[in-house]
Amino acid sequence: MAAIQRVGVIGAGQMGNGIAQVFAQGGRHVVMIDVNDAALKRGMETVQKSLGKLVEKGKLQPPQMGNALSLIAPGTDYAALKDRQLIIEAATENLDLKRKIFEQVKVVAADDAIIATNTSSISITTLAAGVKNPARFIGMHFMNPVPLMQLVEVIRGLDTDDGTFNAVMETAAALGKTPVACNDSPGFVSNRVLLPMINEAIFALHEGVASAEAIDQIMKLGMNHPIGPLALADLIGLDTCLSILEVLHRDLGDSKYRPCPLLRKYVAAGHLGRKTKRGFYKYE
Ligand code: NAD
Repeated sequence: MAAIQRVGVIGAGQMGNGIAQVFAQGGRHVVMIDVNDAALKRGMETVQKSLGKLVEKGKLQPPQMGNALSLIAPGTDYAALKDRQLIIEAATENLDLKRKIFEQVKVVAADDAIIATNTSSISITTLAAGVKNPARFIGMHFMNPVPLMQLVEVIRGLDTDDGTFNAVMETAAALGKTPVACNDSPGFVSNRVLLPMINEAIFALHEGVASAEAIDQIMKLGMNHPIGPLALADLIGLDTCLSILEVLHRDLGDSKYRPCPLLRKYVAAGHLGRKTKRGFYKYE
């Protein structure tokens, strides 16, 4: 298939706007869809801020910033996805919601479009069952923050064909990312390994083993991690962390993935981390 130039991103949250940014920086034309103008405005403001920081650091020239911004078309109408060669779903981590989104995509997407999901944990094969052509469906799992992180975890579903897999591997590499393939299994590799560590840090806090600051400092200084597990949970979003743990717990059937009650409590209170300015820490 011809190199991918026209991309659609569904969801303008922290992952969606980051994915839109890297494709636009790579010269691709991006349609970014969300449910309302407020979400799109927040998404575009985040892209502007992120590009602005790259200009400040001398990593990007001001005209390149302007060019990248002009390549992103935000909107709420899924019909704008009709000519996209690659559509990446990056909406909230919830199976029912994603299924509904793929129902809408089915109506508008071109027959040969590649449909990808940025899900953190949900089965690619299960999501593929809801699209027109499961052979053209794949997991394209970017890391947070997308403009800075090198990895893209690429996950084939049961029916993903070689053409789709190769096109996605090539596209990620063309953006300057490093794609790494893995099989479809709950949480793939990244979150199957990461989330139990985060959950254990939350249990340590819950049981009064140490303060949040001390837990993070011990893991940073002792394990050479760039960020502590509780600060990382705040960055990922506590709702997303809980959803991933629920998928691991249910689909792997092992009690070791049981989400910490304190995590459930924070999510119930609406303290979701950086995106709501309060999680294990407070943010201005
Ligand atoms: P977020 O809460 O920041 O953003 C989700 C966005 O999806 C919101 O703007 C919301 O309005 C939008 N949305 C909801 N329903 C929609 C619909 N029907 N159509 C279009 N948009 C809709 O979440 P996020 O952190 O960006 O996560 C998005 C996806 O990326 C999830 O599947 C998550 O698991 C995955 N992911 C997250 C991280 C992370 O660190 N946060 C990392 C990798 C992957």
